[in-house]
Amino acid sequence: MAFESLTTKLQETFKKLRGKGRLNEKDVKEAMREVRLALLEADVNYKVVKELVSKVSERAVGAEVMESLTPGQHVIKIVNEELVSLMGSGQSSIVFSKTPPTKIMLVGLQGAGKTTMAGKLGQLLKKQGKRPLLAACDIYRPAAIKQLQVVAEKLELPVFSMGDKNSPVDIAKASISYAESNNNDVVIIDTAGRLHVDEELMQELVDVKEAIKPDEILLVVDSMTGQDAVNVAETFNSKLDITGVILTKLDGDTRGGAALSVRYVTGKPIKFAGIGEKLTDIEVFYPDRMASRVLGMGDVLSLIEKAQDAIDEKKALELSKKMMKQEFTFDDFLDQMQQMKKMGSIGDILSMIPGVDSAKMKDVEVDEKEMAHVEAIIKSMTKDERRSPQLLKSGSRRKRIASGSGTKIQDVNKVIKQFEQGQKMMKQFSGMMKNPKKGKFKF
Ligand code: GDP
Repeated sequence: MAFESLTTKLQETFKKLRGKGRLNEKDVKEAMREVRLALLEADVNYKVVKELVSKVSERAVGAEVMESLTPGQHVIKIVNEELVSLMGSGQSSIVFSKTPPTKIMLVGLQGAGKTTMAGKLGQLLKKQGKRPLLAACDIYRPAAIKQLQVVAEKLELPVFSMGDKNSPVDIAKASISYAESNNNDVVIIDTAGRLHVDEELMQELVDVKEAIKPDEILLVVDSMTGQDAVNVAETFNSKLDITGVILTKLDGDTRGGAALSVRYVTGKPIKFAGIGEKLTDIEVFYPDRMASRVLGMGDVLSLIEKAQDAIDEKKALELSKKMMKQEFTFDDFLDQMQQMKKMGSIGDILSMIPGVDSAKMKDVEVDEKEMAHVEAIIKSMTKDERRSPQLLKSGSRRKRIASGSGTKIQDVNKVIKQFEQGQKMMKQFSGMMKNPKKGKFKF
């Protein structure tokens, strides 16, 4: 899995923040020391690490802790937001030319995955309704042209080639004319790479750039090479003023250093990612999804967001105080149900928590109709009954509530039972909050 070593380290750090009260400077400092080490070990650029750690520390210490989140969740939220902003916030797509064909030049070192990416990108654009042409401008690597032809054939994409006797500039120019007369609205130019950056290669790429004026120059880098990939990106960018980066082999990248640094160091967006050897293994790069993968939080982040949207913070705080004091009443039960309704089904919510088996969640699915019954039953209780549930031991009260809510006495019994179970859970939960080591919850 991508980023696994970084993810494990970050999770260990956040775990330590779980169950703590308010975050103080010392806790944050300690956590940030570990985050810094984890990022450096993941081969993240030191400038990026410095920037991230200082931003997160600044935001985490102090009054910003949201009432509906625990301190640990709050730090995850901040780290997530800062990671997203490091990787470029929104998604960056291809800028298409108003006068087709759109010219996309792929550049990068040998073995980075350019030829494979030319095919993958061609197929992606074809799916979007474009008519791409692949142009074979790598005249040096012996099997490069053949490789592009094989890839293109599998994907049923046309290839423009003039063998290896013409200069890359001439081939690139000719491929544009060919595209114009064959109704291809995108040309993807596969250029030559070298094992290392060298002047001759750069000059050749500059010549092609000047000759065809590409709309996009996308640098293909192997994410598994970490900081080397970032250094390569810096050099290519300074010579060619690239328009974006494509990270390949993200499927084998356990550290994430390139993904997290390249945007910050070059100022250029990551547009796509290669995530496997198959020709369908390409993804549009979304910084927010990448950040949540790095944090290994699965959908917990969207859970936090959902909770933030749905839960009235004041009410949540009151409720958690009541939980601690174990003063949970039917009014709270009703309130909680209404808040849950806003967040989606209980099964949905629980299945977002890592480690929870979503198949088992069917059992806790609460259907809307049942919810309406429960609401009617609670509303048929008197104020006193809601506040002092022990009054409901009386059979005549239960009967009155059933007829008042248009339900059966068995339904009332069931709701009371559910409530009692809820109360029991609250007790366990508040015990856990006081003594987090005993708890089974992740945070
Ligand atoms: P080029 O020299 O830059 O044109 O690189 P190639 O396209 O020939 O790719 C080099 C090697 O990397 C090939 O064996 C590809 O199958 C492999 N490769 C390319 N992209 C990916 C990727 O996203 N994931 C994995 N696992 N392998 C990839």
